[in-house]
Amino acid sequence: MEYTELNNGIKMPTVGIGVFTFTPEEAEKSVEAALKSGYHLVDTANAYVNERGTGRGIKNSGVKREDVFVSTKLWPTEYENENAINETLERLGLDYIDLLFLHQPAGNWRAGYRQLEKAYKDGKIKAIGISNFEGKYLDELLAECEITPQVMQVECHPYFTQVETRKITEPKGIKIMAWYPLGHGDKSLVQEPIFAKLAEKYGKTPAQIILKWHNQMGFIVIPGSRNPEHIKENADIFDFELTDEEMAEIAKLDKGVRYYNGTDEQLASYATWQPDYEKE
Ligand code: NAD
Repeated sequence: MEYTELNNGIKMPTVGIGVFTFTPEEAEKSVEAALKSGYHLVDTANAYVNERGTGRGIKNSGVKREDVFVSTKLWPTEYENENAINETLERLGLDYIDLLFLHQPAGNWRAGYRQLEKAYKDGKIKAIGISNFEGKYLDELLAECEITPQVMQVECHPYFTQVETRKITEPKGIKIMAWYPLGHGDKSLVQEPIFAKLAEKYGKTPAQIILKWHNQMGFIVIPGSRNPEHIKENADIFDFELTDEEMAEIAKLDKGVRYYNGTDEQLASYATWQPDYEKE
């Protein structure tokens, strides 16, 4: 497994498993399978209502705590809850979090960010992340924060490569962590002819070619899968290298089109929708 160094010196694995849309039981099984097959990075969120399952998967894997990099996300309804980080730790069954995000630029995100900064200073979290803070939100946060975030988690794949965001994050050493790295199951992305051609050339699958492209772009990836074969396959991308010409050919797929086009109303609604943690 490969690691990248964050702007605070912390080392973070570049490939992990994401458990969005997984039931707690699915998260438990998939996280256990991933860690047992050599993964070291797991990404969940308060809003996925599977942090307890994720924590059980980590325990069941038998992998030592220091060898697992856990990222999770505070939901906007938690930004003013001063016990939110302790409650998150309790659900995960952990005593620190490697990377904690603000999930959305909604609600009182300034209060949420101050909580992250305090938890970072207290050693409860090892790195700070922001998720979906694009455009004006990123500008405002960077102008106001005391501690520059280490990671930005955003939609990112060959159809949408976050050109504008990267102009701001790259100079500050903020790593991009790509959500929907494989297009969230959209067949048209995985079936682009360029990926079939390169899969044939390198003896890999189209999904592996896409993940390798992310890796060479410097993006951290967290593909979601409940399938043990796919889980193994998604981390097996370190024995080949795409050429500059191949990277340039893939770059032509960037249409600047996202899968998720949330409205301002949707974003505002995140400030009141409360995850039901008792469902786990
Ligand atoms: P993804 O792009 O990872 O695609 C998952 C789909 O690809 C599933 O249908 C899966 O069956 C398929 N797949 C996985 N491996 C495959 C393989 N080797 N071959 C063929 N098909 C394969 O999308 P996702 O799972 O929705 O997103 C990944 C992660 O990103 C989430 O689990 C979550 O951690 C994160 N995420 C974050 C946000 C956010 O707002 N921060 C939003 C969405 C997702």
